[in-house]
Amino acid sequence: MSAYLFPPAPVPVVSVTGEASAYPVHRIFCVGRNYAAHAAEMGVEVDREAPFYFTKSPHALMASGGTMPYPPGTANFHYEMELVVALGAPAFRVTPDQAMSAVYAYGCGLDMTRRDLQLKAREKQRPWDLGKDVEQSAVMAPLTKAGDMAPLGPQRIWLSVNGVVKQDAHLSDLIHSVPEIIADLSTFYHLQPGDLIMTGTPAGVGAVQPGDVVEGGIDGLAPVSLTIGAPE
Ligand code: MN
Repeated sequence: MSAYLFPPAPVPVVSVTGEASAYPVHRIFCVGRNYAAHAAEMGVEVDREAPFYFTKSPHALMASGGTMPYPPGTANFHYEMELVVALGAPAFRVTPDQAMSAVYAYGCGLDMTRRDLQLKAREKQRPWDLGKDVEQSAVMAPLTKAGDMAPLGPQRIWLSVNGVVKQDAHLSDLIHSVPEIIADLSTFYHLQPGDLIMTGTPAGVGAVQPGDVVEGGIDGLAPVSLTIGAPE
């Protein structure tokens, strides 16, 4: 077989500050409830024993600065500001001490969520896919190479809607740290270059409406922004 029946979807990519070449994305892993104050606002206990995960299709990627239509099937579409880790080397069954050598870069990302569908699924003990794997819902700012970022911890992570700050925390508030997450994920997956990990959102999540402008930042990284368009 040497041909495709139809043209394959383009490889999803994220740009990298200072690089002419793009970062090709393989998978998007997302960590749930990784800030205590956010778990509390969602009415659930934090599991400090181990992180848990869901995924988004890499084809849900959207570049920062764009407009996404208010998505179908929801009446409660939420922002979640997150630190995103971009891997640049394989990792399988690594220790937290070994994990950081697999990190290529960091970025600001938005995990846009159909909250009503996520909560309905949670209630019925069903998968979260309809709530989380939303088209254009993985919004990514350009990546910053890990070597250009100070050690993670004191950086402020924040998000505003129409200029009003809604989320405001520090990376040191992460329950499961970046090396702990990579080490844990690597017990389930052969992690690869191109794998992105969205590390969870701080407290203060909320709904957006058509016309809203969402902006998020983390000290030392390029900010992320998104405009919500009219429903299709
Ligand atoms: Mn999230």
